[in-house]
Amino acid sequence: MSALILDGKALALSRERQLHMAVDKLLAGGGIKPVLATILVGTDPASATYVQMKVNDCGRVGMGSLRVDMPQSTTTAELLDVIDNLNNDPQVCGILLQHPVPEQINERACFDAIAIKKDVDGVTTQGFGLMAMGEQAFGSATPAGIMTLLKHYDIELSGKHAVVVGRSPILGKPMAAMLLNANATVTICHSRTVDLAEQISRADIVVGAVGQPELIKADWIKDDAVVVDAGYHPGGIGDIEKTGLEDRVAALTPVPGGVGPMTINALISQTLEAAEREA
Ligand code: NAP
Repeated sequence: MSALILDGKALALSRERQLHMAVDKLLAGGGIKPVLATILVGTDPASATYVQMKVNDCGRVGMGSLRVDMPQSTTTAELLDVIDNLNNDPQVCGILLQHPVPEQINERACFDAIAIKKDVDGVTTQGFGLMAMGEQAFGSATPAGIMTLLKHYDIELSGKHAVVVGRSPILGKPMAAMLLNANATVTICHSRTVDLAEQISRADIVVGAVGQPELIKADWIKDDAVVVDAGYHPGGIGDIEKTGLEDRVAALTPVPGGVGPMTINALISQTLEAAEREA
């Protein structure tokens, strides 16, 4: 058996074309040009690259972007001020605060200062709560992108046992809530989980969101599982070891070209939705 490749790059590209048409339609109807504001604090090169990719994607679909770059020494109060200004800027439809921020900043306070209607990256506590309750809210972009990818490839979730490895507020927890809302039976694993291999061996769907190269071993994963790898490390390595998986699992996301492009696509798509609601 050869695994179905869940090609996030190709799907994101085709969705970009649809998004461009939707932006054109919004503008033709007299709506405002959707603008995503990005805030980057500090000089982390990977974060700077991610922000630039998001800005580029806005341009490709005809949306605007407003880039705010702040120094490494930024305080919580200074960042809150910037967020407050963007909340009150009628041109801005969505706000992305690039994670992680320097450690002197209270990241949770800053995420929660983002106005709910502009929380297109799904990072606020309120947005998370609404999403978890199945109410209308923008989901956290990476798990939202993963759900779009799984849906596109008709991956059955209802009644399946999903094991999410990682419980961060931006990825593991919202991922688990979204899978639960799609009627999967969900196990969340983390750094204190005893016998991770045993948990994963029972999974129909494995989501790797740990941030450590190939921490999840290929031989822990059962045949016919669906494998989603959110990790990206230099050299095109994910959080999941892939050796031999392509010949025996049902489906898997490539690294790169799987989850990454879908994350940005979810963010852009949710920014457009925010603009449409405003219009
Ligand atoms: P994070 O905040 O560092 O969280 C990592 C999680 O992994 C934590 O919950 C941690 O458990 C858990 N963990 C660490 N070591 C473990 C172990 N030995 N066994 C089991 N669990 C363990 O990371 P994140 O922001 O969620 O990101 C996770 C991964 O996704 C990273 O590779 C990141 O680069 C990637 N990512 C990709 C995208 C994308 O667009 N493709 C977006 C965001 C993140 P504790 O809670 O117990 O510490």
